[in-house]
Amino acid sequence: MRGLTAKEILGVWEVGQQQMPAERALTLLSTFCPQTPREYLEQLSIGKRDALLLSFREVLFGSQFSGMIRCPHCRSTVEIGFSCADVRTTVPSEQAETFSVHVGEYEFNCRLPNSTDLLAVMYQRSIDSIGNSLFERCVTEKRFRGAELALANLPPEVTAAVAAEIAKHDPQADIRFDLTCPDCSHQWAAIFDVVSFAWNELSAWATRLIRQVHTLALAYGWRELDILSMNPMRRQAYLEMLGE
Ligand SMILES: [Zn+2]
Repeated sequence: MRGLTAKEILGVWEVGQQQMPAERALTLLSTFCPQTPREYLEQLSIGKRDALLLSFREVLFGSQFSGMIRCPHCRSTVEIGFSCADVRTTVPSEQAETFSVHVGEYEFNCRLPNSTDLLAVMYQRSIDSIGNSLFERCVTEKRFRGAELALANLPPEVTAAVAAEIAKHDPQADIRFDLTCPDCSHQWAAIFDVVSFAWNELSAWATRLIRQVHTLALAYGWRELDILSMNPMRRQAYLEMLGE
C-alpha cells in the first residue's frame, strides 16, 4: 500500500470519472495495491474492500474525516466529523465468507457479496431488482423442509431476515452513524460510503492539481508533465509567487 504521485492522481481521476461506483472502488484499489491481481480484489467481500479503501483514504488524506450532510427532515446542512477508527469495524481474521442461515423451517446457504456481484447488477434500474439479483447470486441454496425453493416462493419477511443475516456477517460493508440535526432535532442513521468519500476527495485533489498546472503553464510556459513531476512544496512556492 502506498500514496500516489500527482500524475497518478490525475490518471485515476480520468479513469474513474467514466465509471460507476462499483468500478471506481476497484480502480482505486488496483492503484493502491498494484501488485494484487484484479481478480483477487474483485472477489473480496464488500466489507474487506471497504476496509482496504479506508486504509487507502487514510494514506492519502489522513485519519480524520469532515464533511457536510443534509438533514432529511428540514434540509439544513449538518457538519460531521469523525475518524477512520470510528468507521472501522473489527473483522475476525477467519471471517466465514460462506455460511448457512436458518429462518424457521427455511434453510439457506449464503456467501458474502463481492465486487463481481456489484458489477453484475450495477446497470439494473430499480433497487428491488438489484436486491433480488444480489440475493439470487449470494444465496446459493434455498430450502423449505429440505425441498429446493425458488426466490419467488419465499415470503418477503424471510427474504428480509436472510438479507439482514448476510449483512451481519460483513459489518464493515454497512456502516451507519446516528446523527441529530441541530436545527430541528431530527434523528437519523446516515450511511457512511467510503467509496464516494474517497472518490470526492480524490476528485477535489485532481481539480486543484489541474488548476495549478493551468496557472503555472500560463505563467512560465512549463509542460504539464514537468509541473506534475515537481515536488509539491516547490510547486506551491511558485504558485505563491504568482499570488495563488
Ligand atoms: Zn433538520
